[in-house]
Amino acid sequence: MNQKEKNEIRNKIEADLATLEKQIETLEAKTKPISPDCSLGRLTRLEAMGEQHVNHKVLDESKLRLTRLQNALLRIDKPMFGICIECEEEIGIGRMLARPESVRCVGCANQANR
Ligand SMILES: [Zn+2]
Repeated sequence: MNQKEKNEIRNKIEADLATLEKQIETLEAKTKPISPDCSLGRLTRLEAMGEQHVNHKVLDESKLRLTRLQNALLRIDKPMFGICIECEEEIGIGRMLARPESVRCVGCANQANR
């Protein structure tokens, strides 16, 4: 991975971080507790709670990805950045641009998911 590619990845991380921060802000507003005396009907209230459950899940995932991207930004200038932690091969610029938080190559990531 050369310096130009690292700069591209850095830009990608910073863009993703900005998007995630906005998304988290929106989700946090949506996941505020539903007040029990709100004038919604029973069914609507259940629907609202179901939707909130989904939003909570997305919020947790977004926060996790935010942390991983922040860590990637800290690692980007280290020699091990872009090297798979399992097989120590280069992860590949395509994957790093798509998911800059990757610490495993496609092959090792697939094995880890199995
Ligand atoms: Zn690997």
